[in-house]
Amino acid sequence: MLPKPVEMDAAQEVEEPPSISEDEPPSKAVLLHTPRPALWADIPDEKWNDWHWQIAHRLNTVDELSQIVNLTAEEVTGLTADDKFRVDITPYFASLIDPDDPDCPVRRQVIPLGRELHAFTGMMADSLAEDRHSPVPGLVHRYPDRALMLVTTQCASYCRYCTRSRIVGNPHQTFSKVDFAAQLDYLRRTPQIRDVLLSGGDPLTLNPKTLEYILASLREIEHIEIIRIGTRVPVFLPQRITDELCDMIRQYHPVWMNIHVNHPKEITPELNRALDKLLSAGIPLGNQSVLLAGINDSVDIQRELVHKLVKNRVRPYYLYQCDLVKGAGHFRTTVSKGIEIIEGLRGHTSGYAVPTYVVDAPGGGGKIPVMPQYLISQSPGRVVLRNYEGYITTYDEPTDYDPHQIDHLNQQSVHRDESGQGGVSGLLAGESQAIKPEGFDTLHQRGGAAHRLNGDAAKWQPYHQNGNGHNGNGHNGNGHSSNANGHTNE
Ligand SMILES: *Cc1c(COP(=O)(O)O)cnc(C)c1O
Ligand code: SF4
Repeated sequence: MLPKPVEMDAAQEVEEPPSISEDEPPSKAVLLHTPRPALWADIPDEKWNDWHWQIAHRLNTVDELSQIVNLTAEEVTGLTADDKFRVDITPYFASLIDPDDPDCPVRRQVIPLGRELHAFTGMMADSLAEDRHSPVPGLVHRYPDRALMLVTTQCASYCRYCTRSRIVGNPHQTFSKVDFAAQLDYLRRTPQIRDVLLSGGDPLTLNPKTLEYILASLREIEHIEIIRIGTRVPVFLPQRITDELCDMIRQYHPVWMNIHVNHPKEITPELNRALDKLLSAGIPLGNQSVLLAGINDSVDIQRELVHKLVKNRVRPYYLYQCDLVKGAGHFRTTVSKGIEIIEGLRGHTSGYAVPTYVVDAPGGGGKIPVMPQYLISQSPGRVVLRNYEGYITTYDEPTDYDPHQIDHLNQQSVHRDESGQGGVSGLLAGESQAIKPEGFDTLHQRGGAAHRLNGDAAKWQPYHQNGNGHNGNGHNGNGHSSNANGHTNE
């Protein structure tokens, strides 16, 4: 099937017009492509389209980059700093840069500024505390049923705001067979994990044998239902998405993939064709963007981005608030900017095109969704809601709703043990009465000793809170709950 050409950025000229006709076999069709800077005009297509060539010719110095970009003084400072985060840009991605515009959104993502060396309040090396949530190196197990597996520190190009700059780019920090063995061993003995995300670094920069070894090993673990790959390779190095690679990956289905596009300018005919191959291999595609000041912190740019993504059959998944990580200070926006963007998307465009805006909690709390408030008020029996247009309406709730109708079916369904991570949902289900700050009980003893009034714990146990089926969740009465004895607040 012929890949559908996508719109070119208005500023880019199409060198050759598309001459795709119905009777021509795809191989003969002249496909749209991104124009190359003069520096690479004479590189034969076989080389340009070969990912090995692209990787071998990445740009990282002032000398190399000045051949295609008119560098600013601040970029020169950024590029010549001793302790900078790694710089490497594939010729393909570099060819998307506007040589004369210091604000070019592609350029800003990959060419460092002097500013990135500035420390800012709240900055951390590992702001998501990933290394603290890793039972073994490179395996972050933060949520009940899924885990993040870091498989390499290498990427096709390096994003200045990378949340994992503490290890990414450094070949000495990369993960080895010994690490993979420990990660896989942890996954094997942790049956609650049903979803494994491969990340890094970029898993698609691994040599295909190693990637296949990891996919095959994961597939041998029965409780792992889905595998996800987080990758920016289709964006930085679309040439890497070969039929061979897709054929390898498809053997290990269900495999999902999240790509990482931040600005519509990154959506090129080359990316479109790479995505088409991945989709043809049956890999559902999502996109994760980072909200970046001066790059995509605009409702109009985000709308254009998500529209182009869905046209390419990529579902916008997350829009991330920029992390409190070293190097990312000048990319940070306020959280209200993210809310404004979601306000400008939800209702205004296809639901499929609206990502979930999340703040990944500093300290390791995981992703916290943040959105405009649509529930305006409520009283028993009625809620007041507003829509994207500001239309304010009421919804009358049923007065005879019985949440226990479902109990019978519920008891036949599988209850997943969340091992103490039931959270607020667990409070609603009556698994526990409260979630307490660390040291709460000790603090409130105020140094007092046991006395005649505080000895009987039963008097703080809510009457029938647990085990009587009156807690809105049929699972709690049948011993599935991690706190089936009902004494949860001691
Ligand atoms: C983002 C992330 C996941 C996946 O979260 P989803 O919301 O399921 O996409 C899992 N583990 C870690 C550590 C993560 O940061
Ligand atoms: S591709 Fe991902 S891991 Fe690699 S530098 Fe960019 S943000 Fe970091």
